[in-house]
Amino acid sequence: MPMPALGLASSPNSPAAKSGINKTGGMTKKTSSQNPARPAPAIGVSACLLGMKVRWDGGHKQDWYVRKVLAKHFELVAICPENECGLGIPREPVRLEGDPDRPRLFTLNSRIELTGKMEAWIERRLGELEQVDLCGFVFKAKSPSCGLKSTKIFGNGSVFLSGRGLFAAAFTKRFPAIPVVEENDLHDPLAKAIFIEKLTRFGKLR
Ligand code: SF4
Repeated sequence: MPMPALGLASSPNSPAAKSGINKTGGMTKKTSSQNPARPAPAIGVSACLLGMKVRWDGGHKQDWYVRKVLAKHFELVAICPENECGLGIPREPVRLEGDPDRPRLFTLNSRIELTGKMEAWIERRLGELEQVDLCGFVFKAKSPSCGLKSTKIFGNGSVFLSGRGLFAAAFTKRFPAIPVVEENDLHDPLAKAIFIEKLTRFGKLR
């Protein structure tokens, strides 16, 4: 399947798009390093890892490996669930609470529940991503939206440390075969090698 145009993975009406954020992290469309006639395979990335200032405090969490290494070989599709679903920048921090199997999303101090808003956006966005040949996804660790295995879920005085953010959970449920990783693991040689191997193998199947 041919690779989509860069903008295809972005909702043109998303708050991020309206705010002028470059959903591709400012990267140009690439071709495969092995076959210049073909477009480079695409991977999704939590937008803050690309240096995009989309975090609740207006900052970013640029990851050098993603930005300097993966960007050379892959088309990077930047996604920020919290900004794209309409929470804006800056915004009140959010956290997950309740049942670890079905956590709910609340603002930290004002106690506004955002579960429905986020889930509605996720449903739309995953539908868009079905049109994109993603062969992997790099998620930001610990985030209530993007964390893959390290997100805190608060409930009844106890903290569950091994939860999954709402977007990461929905993504892995919808696309169980696509290789995923938290950015922290890209700095562990073994975990990184396993992810790259899975990426390569999955990319060849597409
Ligand atoms: S962790 Fe996810 S939701 Fe939070 S700023 Fe980064 S991309 Fe956005």
